[in-house]
Amino acid sequence: MTQSRYTASTGTLRTAPGEDGGTDRPSQVPIPEVHGRLLAEGLGEVVFELADVSIFYGSYQAVREVNMTVHSRQITALIGPSGCGKSTVLRCLNRMNDLIPGARVEGKITYHTENLYADYVDPIQVRRRIGMVFQKPNPFPKSIYDNIAYGPRVNGVRKGMDDIVEEALTGAALWDEVKDKLKQSALALSGGQQQRLCIARTIAVKPEVILMDEPCSALDPIATAKIEDLMHDLATQYTIVIVTHNMQQAARVSDRTAFFTADVDGEGVRHGRLVEYDVTSKMFTNPSDRRTEDYISGRFG
Ligand code: ADP
Repeated sequence: MTQSRYTASTGTLRTAPGEDGGTDRPSQVPIPEVHGRLLAEGLGEVVFELADVSIFYGSYQAVREVNMTVHSRQITALIGPSGCGKSTVLRCLNRMNDLIPGARVEGKITYHTENLYADYVDPIQVRRRIGMVFQKPNPFPKSIYDNIAYGPRVNGVRKGMDDIVEEALTGAALWDEVKDKLKQSALALSGGQQQRLCIARTIAVKPEVILMDEPCSALDPIATAKIEDLMHDLATQYTIVIVTHNMQQAARVSDRTAFFTADVDGEGVRHGRLVEYDVTSKMFTNPSDRRTEDYISGRFG
């Protein structure tokens, strides 16, 4: 796969100049540049740190006391039975939960050591840096070209759009299949192509992180295999967090796996919690917690 050198947007999570209607926000604080350095012991640089994170929907505590780190240019899989809070945790990494009325995060989530939920942080800047791909491919009812160009245009890019579109589609392993029909509707593509288009749309704005919420669950096995191959390619340049209900997929694609489950409290209410988090090879061969072992061996969930 050919791709130009990674140029993740760096800088600030604050509102971009000219976008906040001229409010007197504090001046921009730089965020450390992402350089994908791997530490000697094989840990990637920490991108996210979750410390005692609990997530609520109204008074319901959906997830309690999650502690984990997400590392640069690795694929981190969130697995566990339905309803244990995987998507809830994923969505709070780019403040997508802000869009759900009543959703609230307690504890601390840092992104490159900056508090993701600080008052001055602009969720729109956050979502530019931390993109998301959903379970069901959701192309805009526009041409293939315009789907990819949409984000860069919103960001004010006017020149070199053809190159941006080609680079994003190449990066999502879709260019060869669509280069002769860029003006056709994206809705005419197959489900697997649509999902790769959505990945291309995400990378067109040069994020650092891609969050994927069960990105293959609506796809057939061949389209799934293509996305998994693509994820391996993308992980050389992007930090990826994926929710998957498919344990084999987690074992195939991820570097680290977090296993969540739901505990029932004294009043019969289920709360999601992180049971175990480790490098994937260990999680699937020698987990420390009996519940992880039971889950991955299919004894529950
Ligand atoms: P998973 O991704 O592991 O299947 P979710 O994160 O979707 O789990 O859900 C965790 C819990 O939070 C579930 O009990 C679910 O019903 C609840 N939940 C999820 N989304 C919402 C929401 N928008 N409003 C209220 N409760 C929600």
